[in-house]
Amino acid sequence: MQGVVEKVYERVVDRNRGEAEFHQAVREVLESLEPVITKHPSYAEGALLERLVEPERQIIFRVPWVDDAGEVHVQRGFRIEFNSALGPYKGGLRFHPSVNAGIIKFLGFEQIFKNALTAQGIGGGKGGSDFDPHGRSDAEVMRFCQSFMTELARHIGPSTDVPAGDIGVGGREIGYLFGQYKRLRNAYDAGVLTGKGLTWGGSLVRTEATGYGTVLFAQSMLATKGQSLEGKRVAVSGAGNVAIYAIEKAQQLGAAPITFSDSSGYVVDEAGVDLDLLKQVKEVERGRVKDYVDRRPGARLVVDGSVWDVPVDVALPCATQNELDGAAAATLLRGGCAVVAEGANMPSTPEAVAAFQSAGILYAPGKASNAGGVATSALEMEQNAGRTRWDFDTAESKLAAIMSDIHDSCVTAADEYGRPGDYVLGANVAGFTRVADVMIAHGIV
Ligand code: NDP
Repeated sequence: MQGVVEKVYERVVDRNRGEAEFHQAVREVLESLEPVITKHPSYAEGALLERLVEPERQIIFRVPWVDDAGEVHVQRGFRIEFNSALGPYKGGLRFHPSVNAGIIKFLGFEQIFKNALTAQGIGGGKGGSDFDPHGRSDAEVMRFCQSFMTELARHIGPSTDVPAGDIGVGGREIGYLFGQYKRLRNAYDAGVLTGKGLTWGGSLVRTEATGYGTVLFAQSMLATKGQSLEGKRVAVSGAGNVAIYAIEKAQQLGAAPITFSDSSGYVVDEAGVDLDLLKQVKEVERGRVKDYVDRRPGARLVVDGSVWDVPVDVALPCATQNELDGAAAATLLRGGCAVVAEGANMPSTPEAVAAFQSAGILYAPGKASNAGGVATSALEMEQNAGRTRWDFDTAESKLAAIMSDIHDSCVTAADEYGRPGDYVLGANVAGFTRVADVMIAHGIV
């Protein structure tokens, strides 16, 4: 990096000490912007870049709750309202013990560009807590969610800030959060949260959207080479919402997903993942990946390796940030992997991204390939505002059209800056210019 973008980056590091993931996310975007600033110096005027990397508002709050044994716990809650140029802040809530300000800031920053790419009129935000739902009873999760929402409700609203799910926050948690919001406000503001249940304002396809969208993006990338997913061996990491529906869509398109994982290890099922069993174990029983292996002859559990050791044609990282490092990327490339589409946010380290790019394979950054989730959240908001409900095929065809548009926007921007096939540059530049143009129109705010 050099010039103005380097100065902006140095200031980010200086002002946000110890927030390594936030630095990493900012660096990746700023590096892509160098050619844009050279061609259009006006984007560096009015401290636009400095404003872009500073959240509009950061809310950090205490979340006390009582467990089933009567013991009191104190968690920390976050909501980072990063950028509202394009619409109300929009982004998920993550409940995981690793959550801190830097993680939420990196996710909120990525969300700005992702949401811009969807062209759905949504700004960027993210939130969460260091609460760990694993092993907690429904009643404990409910009490935590109620305490969390008691503070969060002051800051959100259908036209202000619209949270959704992320790691550790699924339909159960959104239900408890919505129930408490409604009670506090005495208003049925369906559009205040997305990922709701289908009987109380949720949208068909929202559950599937992130995983489906990731696979559709991979299919679009392959189509630029005259290929498809048909017959391809696929490695998926994670076994949560994104992973399960990435596996489902990959199977529908004729590919063979053979892995999934959680924090206890990864599973290889050479016969192809039994999706009904995986859903039963993970969605119904909230079990561990070992429970799948116990009931599936031929599947094996590996607890001391990396899911990226398995030779495949396509890799779909769908667990968490920085889960795929430089060494894992080298192993994947040696095994013949030619496509990587990120379902998770920033799952590849900078070394892994560099390895994929210098090998010239098809590589899609999460802010483009996993945007189907938030795009379908925007479709849920649209249905809520119109007090209407679309059928599955209507919602899925809208998702497919949005993913195709995002793919084409990335390709066009990469071509414009002389880097054909560079989806990192394409996503960052296409997302940035949409936000930056509106920030300029809104003046210094
Ligand atoms: P879930 O909580 O449903 O599932 C997460 C999965 O990843 C679990 O299997 C979990 O295992 C595993 N995992 C999480 N952290 C780790 C870790 N540190 N090490 C190993 N495994 C881990 O989350 P989602 O599927 O919703 O989210 C997955 C990723 O996709 C995240 O990066 C999220 O930000 C991103 N994303 C999600 C969207 C959505 O719509 N849900 C939208 C866009 C992006 P375990 O249970 O053992 O922790």
